[in-house]
Amino acid sequence: MTQPMLAAAAGPQWAFERYQEVRSRLPSARFAANSEHCSSLFELMDRFDAFLFDSFGVLNVGDMPVPGATACIEALRRAGKQVMVLTNAATGSIASLPNKYSQLGFDFTSNEIVSSRQVLAMSLAQPPLVDWQWAIAAPGNVAIEEIVKNYSIVGGRDAGLSDVDGFILLSTSGWNEGHATALRHALRERPRPVLVGNPDLVAPREGGLSLEPGSIAHQLLDEMPGLDVSFFGKPFGNAFEEALRRLLGNVCRDRVAMVGDTLHTDILGGAAAGCGTVLVTDWGVLKGFDIGEAVSRAGIVPDFIVPSI
Ligand SMILES: [Mg+2]
Repeated sequence: MTQPMLAAAAGPQWAFERYQEVRSRLPSARFAANSEHCSSLFELMDRFDAFLFDSFGVLNVGDMPVPGATACIEALRRAGKQVMVLTNAATGSIASLPNKYSQLGFDFTSNEIVSSRQVLAMSLAQPPLVDWQWAIAAPGNVAIEEIVKNYSIVGGRDAGLSDVDGFILLSTSGWNEGHATALRHALRERPRPVLVGNPDLVAPREGGLSLEPGSIAHQLLDEMPGLDVSFFGKPFGNAFEEALRRLLGNVCRDRVAMVGDTLHTDILGGAAAGCGTVLVTDWGVLKGFDIGEAVSRAGIVPDFIVPSI
């Protein structure tokens, strides 16, 4: 498969600054005055009834589970807590997710995994979008039919962009400057809705950070501020509402914890949804950052900070 477009010279610090630049397009939220530091999630067992876990940097790093993460999930289940994965993942098929976590040693059921791809798919299944003709940024071999029936692939052989009703940014795998230019020209010629299946700006890959669909969308918005762009996934409310809807019983939002490694997606989104928030510092994007300075610069204050789950 073609490598994703790497953000040349773009490190985690670049991503942090870019999130700050696009902050007005992200949800707003209220935060605690200060964070409480804990040694692990076990100290928070009595504080919450349900835990929503980000994936990369919390449960796993690449193909490896974070040390202690599988035991933590088992212990939470034994204590009667509900657990769920809430991940901005849009490239792979929905059906493949339980197996992915099973290979990492976790036992999440399909109902316990909410991906941004699923949240987008639910919206696309409703009229009038279900009947639209779409152009999709995605590798053409990954079960596109599970989310839309009428589509062409941007950059594909028969990809006429002038006649489609809208655009879906699902994945930047295989994406290049030629695709970006074609998309930009098509939207300048005739603006149409753009749906973003993964609002993340970057993702860690071997060899550096890749630019993700969120980055492409924000570049378009910089150039065409009036463009109709909808984001599906953290930090936006649609992802959190789907996760909260799946919880059993009447769990109050302030008894639900969003556990994540990024301030601008996990913690901001969790707080905006009215949930408690737990920042994990040792395995994700803020590894090596001065956490206190990052929190204070972003003005995104987690309720709790733990080194690892
Ligand atoms: Mg993460």
